[in-house]
Amino acid sequence: MVLVGAAGSGKSTFAAGWFTPDEILSSDAYRASITGDAANQGATRAAFGALHTVLARRLRERRTAVVDATSVTARARLALLARARDAGVPAIAIVLDLPAAVVLARNSGRAERVVPTRVVERHLGELRRSLAGGGAALADEGFSNVIRFTDPTALDGARVIRG
Ligand code: GDP
Ligand code: MG
Repeated sequence: MVLVGAAGSGKSTFAAGWFTPDEILSSDAYRASITGDAANQGATRAAFGALHTVLARRLRERRTAVVDATSVTARARLALLARARDAGVPAIAIVLDLPAAVVLARNSGRAERVVPTRVVERHLGELRRSLAGGGAALADEGFSNVIRFTDPTALDGARVIRG
């Protein structure tokens, strides 16, 4: 499962609400585990290397994996989709396509790690471009299911039912 959304859209909150810590593969957590700092962008390559290694292993073992990273670019998503394809498992995208004002307010209201506004705006622009092809855009990349939230209330009311 791939969460897709700008910094501040609520990915980590959603993941923590519905999944166990071992199921959540967070780019921030891998940055922190490498450098001690979740915001250290210099550790991005290493963090994603570690994330992909664990992801591949979990999927081989048929364990649920929820990738908590922005994944707002096709390039990032295609790399994750390759792991699912290698393991022969379906990939689901949960897209937090909430209003920019909500995302920016949540980001600036965070207790720690407020991401610069221009970075959040870049994420929002990348997400918008990713979805520009319409509802099928992410499905065309290879996701078996795309669940898109545009309304924060709908996201709050969402339930994850596990089979
Ligand atoms: P991420 O950057 O996408 O992982 O976003 P976070 O999960 O860290 O959330 C960013 C901020 O928005 C945090 O301060 C959260 O407490 C807040 N937040 C996340 N989800 C919700 C929500 O459903 N409702 C409200 N009101 N705030 C939320
Ligand atoms: Mg987060």
